[in-house]
Amino acid sequence: KSLVIKSNEEENNITFADIGGQRAAVEELKEALDFIKHYPQARRLGVRPLKGILLTGPPGTGKTLLAKAAAGYTDAVFIAASGSEFVEMYAGVGAQRIRNLFRLAREKAQQSGKNRAIIFIDEIDVLGGKRGKVNSHLEYDQTLNQLLVEMDGIKGDERVNILVIAATNRADLLDPALLRPGRFDRQVRVDLPDKEGRLEILRLHTRNKPLAPDVDLEAVAKETLGFSGAHLESLANEAAILALREGASAIGQRHFMEAIERVMLGAKLERRPSK
Ligand code: ATP
Repeated sequence: KSLVIKSNEEENNITFADIGGQRAAVEELKEALDFIKHYPQARRLGVRPLKGILLTGPPGTGKTLLAKAAAGYTDAVFIAASGSEFVEMYAGVGAQRIRNLFRLAREKAQQSGKNRAIIFIDEIDVLGGKRGKVNSHLEYDQTLNQLLVEMDGIKGDERVNILVIAATNRADLLDPALLRPGRFDRQVRVDLPDKEGRLEILRLHTRNKPLAPDVDLEAVAKETLGFSGAHLESLANEAAILALREGASAIGQRHFMEAIERVMLGAKLERRPSK
């Protein structure tokens, strides 16, 4: 088994302007990131370095986008991994992968001259579940312990600055050790978008699509209670496909309405009265 992690440094052009709704989450996140942006001042004032931010909330609400935007905002290298990449049958492999991930982040940060890296760990609950519980076994414990060791090792006085952003839909499953000060001590809630948020997301995902004059995105936002950003992205795409199939030159309101039904069927979302 190779110890090379699949985690990749991705092309990253995402900014906070690409995220619809989530105003509170964006503000909270920016506030935390400002510590990092103005690090020398923060250090002079004796502010403890911020090492970890936990994004919690349902799937498809933009947690990954937020982490990418955070990297752009702080001019950091972005390295992504998923909790499931660290789960292996063989003892020690997960822990070794965690070490490699942090080493890779330091290397990339230095090579790029940015001297800053954001490590994004999606599905942190897979490796960061409560230790010593029925579902966790020794291997997970070692992996989680290694993550804690790496985070405790971030001193804030090195040449390279590392911030870990983790995401989960199940914060309740996390080992409390992860949430202690000096680890993921900032939690940012990323909820399903409200009507205004849905409208913003629909606007973002239709900005490069030709829309017929009858299109009323507000009405679409009203009809899509319970949709996540990912559902809305897929809705805009479905509407375009329906228009294409008809040979229409622009997407009309009826395409959006039919696309709503399709996405709901696919996602088994219930149609609820609009708010
Ligand atoms: P998961 O928990 O499933 O990993 P996530 O919360 O990380 O989900 P993302 O991967 O960021 O969600 O979102 C998936 C896609 O859905 C994005 O690439 C984007 O196209 C769309 N999307 C989700 N939320 C938003 C948003 N707030 N604004 C714009 N687009 C969004």
